Amino acid sequence: MQKAHVHAPSNTKRNQTSLWNFGLDRGRALTPLQHHVEDHERRVGLEDRTHWREFIEVSVPAFNHRWVREARLPDVSYDFDYVVGHGHLHYHVWTQTEIVDLLRYAGCRILFVMDRPLDRDDSFCVIAEKPGTAL
Ligand SMILES: [Zn+2]
Repeated sequence: MQKAHVHAPSNTKRNQTSLWNFGLDRGRALTPLQHHVEDHERRVGLEDRTHWREFIEVSVPAFNHRWVREARLPDVSYDFDYVVGHGHLHYHVWTQTEIVDLLRYAGCRILFVMDRPLDRDDSFCVIAEKPGTAL
């Protein structure tokens, strides 16, 4: 059995306009299944700049990142290569609903969903299996 365990912001604090409303990604649009399908079909990699502007304009000001000073260029813009190279760019915004949609699209069977793990209020947990891939 292949399991997927995902930690990302919970939807417990999202609003009705499908914008994320918690912490780092407050104000960002949730990423729908079709977006992931298109990213996959286009074989989008880390160099993809589709989410760059939203990340820089929405996520960066919403959180006091330790890396911001090092990522600044002389013109005060941000160095894309630095941010991506250090794994700071947050491309997509999910709740467990979007992850469940994605896993089902990939042919997985959802075994367990918890929208708010006991020890965190900014995460969720989804466990799924891909039929025919037993250990
Ligand atoms: Zn994307």
